[in-house]
Amino acid sequence: MNVLDTLQRPLRNLRLSVTDRCNLRCAYCMPEEEYRWLPKRSILSFEEIARLVAVFTSLGVDKVRITGGEPLLRRELASLVRLLAASPRLTDLALTTNGVLLDQQARELRDAGLRRVTVSLDTLQPATFRALARRDDLERVLAGIRAARDAGFGELKLDTVMLKGTNDGELCDLLEYAKSVGAELRYIEYMDVGGATRWRPEHVLSRAEVLERLTQRYGAIEPVREVSTAPAERFRLADGTVFGIIASTTAPFCRSCDRSRLTADGMWYRCLYATVGTNLRDMLRSDASDAEVAEFIASSWRARADRGAEERLAELSRGAFVGREELAQNPHLEMHKRGG
Ligand code: SAM
Ligand code: SF4
Ligand code: SF4
Repeated sequence: MNVLDTLQRPLRNLRLSVTDRCNLRCAYCMPEEEYRWLPKRSILSFEEIARLVAVFTSLGVDKVRITGGEPLLRRELASLVRLLAASPRLTDLALTTNGVLLDQQARELRDAGLRRVTVSLDTLQPATFRALARRDDLERVLAGIRAARDAGFGELKLDTVMLKGTNDGELCDLLEYAKSVGAELRYIEYMDVGGATRWRPEHVLSRAEVLERLTQRYGAIEPVREVSTAPAERFRLADGTVFGIIASTTAPFCRSCDRSRLTADGMWYRCLYATVGTNLRDMLRSDASDAEVAEFIASSWRARADRGAEERLAELSRGAFVGREELAQNPHLEMHKRGG
């Protein structure tokens, strides 16, 4: 079954946040001192998540990415992976992590059926890591990346959010590092999503600037020609090294966006910038049948018209999308709740 929204975009990709908690405090995601966590009783159990994923796959979802907060903080995550990996309709089961706990869990996750891992890595400098993530865990992240490679995660990806004046001097070092561990690096433009309360346009390093700087160092760069709805555009250096750029801020890709997001407490958002979500948890915990849940999800998707990042691009004077007070009132707007 293929459900299309008002812009003919299919429902295919589900980001599954399994916790809103995190062991880092990245400046572009969780810059505040205090956060309000979701109450435990509201968090979906693995059985509830697996039931919902089965409903989503019956509607055409074939890609699931487990995320958070920091997903490896969720206890027994491998059990959830095992449940999801058993679904014959899922062609892609992936995880995005900050890598701090990956050293301990990579092998178990791989054995449970996880196929792909993306590790967020913004810097190779301990002092920059400390300043950016407000924790001293760079060595653990690097150990996590090595553990993922050793566990046999072939398509290992490293995601770097670029911040002007913070880590933009490391574009080449990060690319060389990715090459040395057999991973593909993706540069991500800093987005003004909920949670990024310190976002300013002048901190964004654009796709054009990345390409210019890499060309200065490596010479000609060619685009990789491929048909894909993935957000990253891929490029190749003369020596064959491939990397990606996710230009979500300066060149958003809403027109082909097939992604939606489920928070750890069962709120479903059809856009990263959506201010209103749908409470699927209450429906699950009522006596609704799978067919009723499926029809509800399908009709909500059919009505979807979101183009959040494109609409933000049209704003002339842009600051943070959501201010601190509004976030305190509605924590579901935060990226670490919604799952990046
Ligand atoms: N904690 C895990 C991690 O950091 O990989 C998973 C959740 S995190 C919210 C998912 C991704 O969102 C990370 O790669 C992070 O860099 C990205 N992210 C968070 N805030 C962002 C922002 N303001 N702009 C661009 N990317 C952002
Ligand atoms: Fe950083 Fe991910 Fe935690 Fe956000 S959720 S603070 S991006 S590690
Ligand atoms: Fe999709 Fe919304 Fe992101 Fe655009 S802003 S790519 S519609 S999630």
